[in-house]
Amino acid sequence: MDTYDVIVIGAGPAGYHAAIRAAQLGLNTACIEKWIGKSGKPVFGGTCLNVGCIPSKALLDASHKYAEARDHFAEIGIMTGDLSVDVPAMISRKDDVVTKLTGGVSALFKSNGVTALEGSAKLLANRVVEFTPHDGAASQLTAEHVVIATGSVPVDIPPCPLVDEVVVDSTGALEFQAVPKRLGIIGAGVIGLELGSVWARLGSEVVVLEALPDFMPALDKQIARETAKQLGRQGLDIRLGTRVTGSTVKGDTVEVTFTDGDGDHEEVFDKLIVAVGRKPYTEGLFAADAGVNMDEGGFVFVDEFCNTEAPGICAVGDVVRGPMLAHKGMEEGIMVAERIAGHKPAVNYDCVPGVIYTHPEVAWVGRSEQECKAAGEDVNVGMFPFAASGRALASNDTDGLIKVVADAETDRVLGVHMVGPHVSELIAEAVIAMEFESSAEDLGLTMFAHPTLSESLHEAALAVSGHAIHVAPRKRRKK
Ligand code: FAD
Ligand code: NAD
Repeated sequence: MDTYDVIVIGAGPAGYHAAIRAAQLGLNTACIEKWIGKSGKPVFGGTCLNVGCIPSKALLDASHKYAEARDHFAEIGIMTGDLSVDVPAMISRKDDVVTKLTGGVSALFKSNGVTALEGSAKLLANRVVEFTPHDGAASQLTAEHVVIATGSVPVDIPPCPLVDEVVVDSTGALEFQAVPKRLGIIGAGVIGLELGSVWARLGSEVVVLEALPDFMPALDKQIARETAKQLGRQGLDIRLGTRVTGSTVKGDTVEVTFTDGDGDHEEVFDKLIVAVGRKPYTEGLFAADAGVNMDEGGFVFVDEFCNTEAPGICAVGDVVRGPMLAHKGMEEGIMVAERIAGHKPAVNYDCVPGVIYTHPEVAWVGRSEQECKAAGEDVNVGMFPFAASGRALASNDTDGLIKVVADAETDRVLGVHMVGPHVSELIAEAVIAMEFESSAEDLGLTMFAHPTLSESLHEAALAVSGHAIHVAPRKRRKK
């Protein structure tokens, strides 16, 4: 039986980070991955690289460039003439990006000495792993430590079963070969808004049906309001408080029935995307005596250091509690590898940034003003609108604002919330500030380059104590 120090099951961002870091630390490491790519060949990188973060951002960036050229270039003196979109070329370029990056993971495995095993894994008792290659018979491997990193899959709902190329999940929505005239989306979550933006920019009439009565209730309320306003202006028709009751495919179209406060409705779409969340994936993974337990949501049950209840077995990424985000899984993967090697790192779950890659982008870290107030905490808030930023104005990109929430007594930054241009990048500054337990005053005393969008964070931090230079202080504004 082949023996390893560490066997990682799953080569998504959580698993491949765990495997590479373990190998860097001198541990004899294997990583088992069963994904078959679009080309029919085994690939590494999991959901994130193959059908998630990267392909969606390739389409978001391409469609944003098109929408900018169509809707805003003339405002800055660039005349384009007639523009058109070659959707198959856009999809094919997205596929090239995926191929480059998944190939990159294979190369990193090779250069770091990780044994890459293509096929599926099943955990048996006592850290024995049954490995079944794509083209061969099962064998048994054993390891001192096993890391479960098997990720997640889309949730499906009974009224809307997937139907080839008409009713699709997020994976299908990255493959449309033409712009749907009318696009329905179930779920105004992160996927619904990002993929809805892609196709709306390219010309689809997009209707989003959301069950909850509030738009993005987890966001800071002011940021959510501004986001809904901007997305509405771009043509996303977001209908809150709807209950989808059925869908019927008729030829190339799908008829969707739903109810809301006004009664029963029916809409016909050319494509329907079901984006109602993801669930942990553990199908066929555990033998009955593997010793690993799940929580009530089907997530592998772990402690703060990602240890399961079975000795020597930990689990990381989407398959365990916490936000289903690639960077959260990556940090957990690194943490478990280092802890296996005897180091003592921890993941700071209070500082996990969230980003929605719409335009304007939305980004946040820490707690919102409403959360702090609901917990009875006294906070000061500083805000700065991008409309007052010289760089945003120069770039013709002034929608949105930054909001800094600080403890009223200690001035410590408790949360930062942004909607605006490039805030997926700006949020890193706030994460670093919070990691170092900085106060709003610390941020205000820090020098930011001019003219940059980052200065808006500086100004929002100064606004916490009413010292922002480029906006009227709150007291004066009230008059
Ligand atoms: P996964 O990436 O799901 O990888 C798990 C791997 O385990 C898979 O490759 C699977 O084949 C393999 N596996 C499962 N079972 C077995 C088995 N028995 N044997 C062998 N292999 C197995 N997150 C962000 O942070 N930013 C984004 O912008 C973002 N955009 C997204 C866009 C979309 C459309 C989607 C769907 C998701 C997006 N996400 C984003 C979420 C992100 O993709 C996930 O959080 C991330 O991929 C989780 O990583 P993971 O390693 O835990 O699992
Ligand atoms: P989500 O949880 O973000 O949103 C799902 C939405 O669907 C919710 O608003 C929910 O209320 C709604 N919903 C659920 N059932 C419904 C129903 N029957 N009818 C109408 N609405 C319904 O999930 P998602 O958008 O599918 O994304 C899945 C995961 O992938 C998320 O956890 C997210 O973290 C991750 N992801 C992250 C990014 C990013 O970081 N930018 C991008 C895409 C996906």
